[in-house]
Amino acid sequence: MAYKMLVDIDRCIGCWTCAMGCKVGNHLEDDEYRVEVTTHGSGAGIDRPAGVYPDLRMWWQPVYLPSCTFCAERMKEGEPQFCVMDCPTQALAFGDAADPESGYSQARARVEARGARIWALDDAGSGTRAGVEYASAR
Ligand code: SF4
Ligand code: SF4
Repeated sequence: MAYKMLVDIDRCIGCWTCAMGCKVGNHLEDDEYRVEVTTHGSGAGIDRPAGVYPDLRMWWQPVYLPSCTFCAERMKEGEPQFCVMDCPTQALAFGDAADPESGYSQARARVEARGARIWALDDAGSGTRAGVEYASAR
């Protein structure tokens, strides 16, 4: 089995519900996160776009940290990951990459059909969790 998370960047609205769902579901401390949502914009902080009005540009990227367990305990019970379950736009999909019926595989087929580019962060150098992919057709 090769479990993977696919983040459909084109569906992500930067709401942080994934991070909060993880925090509440996993009973994390106030300052502890296993996934954080990065704004790609002006660089000035959360939800700060690049450009000059009306030509503004911004997108968001949930970044999974090494502490993310992919909700291993819930997986044993056949339950979905809190972040996947709570995302209001279904931007997240998880499952066995070797199983064509898994949520991950089905989402990956959908983004490939859309012509999306798929990439991963360099987990060795970036301090992020392995097994997370991003997709965007923009
Ligand atoms: S992945 Fe989903 S829950 Fe997380 S910030 Fe994006 S839209 Fe919100
Ligand atoms: S997979 Fe589980 S542990 Fe990892 S960020 Fe999502 S909810 Fe948190």
